[in-house]
Amino acid sequence: GSRISETDPEIYAAIVAEEKRQRFNIELIASENFASPAVMEAQGSVLTNKYAEGYPGRRWYGGCEHVDVVESLAIERAKELFGAEHANVQPHSGSQANTAVYFSVLKPGDRILTMDLAHGGHLTHGHKANFSGKFYEVTHYGVSKDDERIDYDHLAELARETKPALITCGASAYSRVIDFERMGEIAREVGAYLFVDMAHIAGLVAAGVHPNPVPYADFVTSTTHKSLRGPRGGIILCKEEFAKKIDSQVFPGIQGGPLMHVIAAKAVCFGEALKPEFKTYQEQVVKNSQAMAARLTSHGYRIVSEGSDNHVMMVDLRPKNLNGADASHALDEAGITVNKNSIPFDTGTPMKPSGIRIGTPAVTTRGVKEADVEKVADFIDEALQSVGNDEQLHAIRERVHEFMRAFPMPW
Ligand code: PLP
Repeated sequence: GSRISETDPEIYAAIVAEEKRQRFNIELIASENFASPAVMEAQGSVLTNKYAEGYPGRRWYGGCEHVDVVESLAIERAKELFGAEHANVQPHSGSQANTAVYFSVLKPGDRILTMDLAHGGHLTHGHKANFSGKFYEVTHYGVSKDDERIDYDHLAELARETKPALITCGASAYSRVIDFERMGEIAREVGAYLFVDMAHIAGLVAAGVHPNPVPYADFVTSTTHKSLRGPRGGIILCKEEFAKKIDSQVFPGIQGGPLMHVIAAKAVCFGEALKPEFKTYQEQVVKNSQAMAARLTSHGYRIVSEGSDNHVMMVDLRPKNLNGADASHALDEAGITVNKNSIPFDTGTPMKPSGIRIGTPAVTTRGVKEADVEKVADFIDEALQSVGNDEQLHAIRERVHEFMRAFPMPW
């Protein structure tokens, strides 16, 4: 026997249990999604066995004729999907993609201007615990206290003062449209490169539901596994003039052999994203996000910036005298998966922040619509009124599991 169920029952049991968790819980982690059976099939294919250092037609290994087809298709589809001049589909993750961009045009000690993690940025945007915060001189911009949206005027002032070599934008926890055109103007005025990390919103961008950064940015990176709904991994898009620099920075700069099975799954994902159904899906992601924000507001929660234009919202729990840690724990007990998150100008601590982050890409893949999302918001409110009461939370979980039966997994 060679099935995992026979050869490795411990791992098999954990996979089966995880499948159940995904099937019956309400998945609201903004950076997660359910990949299609075709994406998972590609990722589980024989391509995992192949070494292919280099790029299509220029490999260091023999026997690459079929994986060359796969990678070329992934590149062509990525370029078509986002209107990019050049695409590198080899980064193993979003963080690797970002590393390659920084290394391609910056030297250690260069100045960068990036969004503060505490206001929604990512670790790779200059956090001191990350290489990006250790190698570069970082200045952070953030959102304004009044409307909790990116303060572009202040950002422009900071850019003029600090004269950064590169400006990073994009976020892990920001619920509003990002004005890439304005970011491009600010970067050009001070002679900085503009680097957009669209990891969270790439699916929305692909579907035309959020403005595309590609025309305004020198470099655009993304993960492929969030709203884009592909395999775990990263991509880099850039202008032709940076193509060679980026390619040689990915390999041999920071990576060895590409994961050809993952690249095949990226190609399948881009093919799916080019279809009309994908636009309908992304439109529903935003409608669901807005319906969720409105319903939670009506229950007395405060949504950061008063709403959402995209797939995600930050919920300020202070009006309910709750913190994100206790809330996410209670929601877990009720079968609802979110993450605790700090909110701009948080008065809590990193371990007990004031908020939770809620995203709609995964539940929307299950077929959930606005009325269902309102029901989900009602479950959340019910669970948050039962913090500390596991018996009640488990009773809610039974109803949550029953509710999710109506929404099939894509496989
Ligand atoms: N960039 C942003 C904006 C993200 O939110 C994330 C993931 O959380 C990443 C980059 C990193 O991606 P990965 O986890 O694949 O390294």
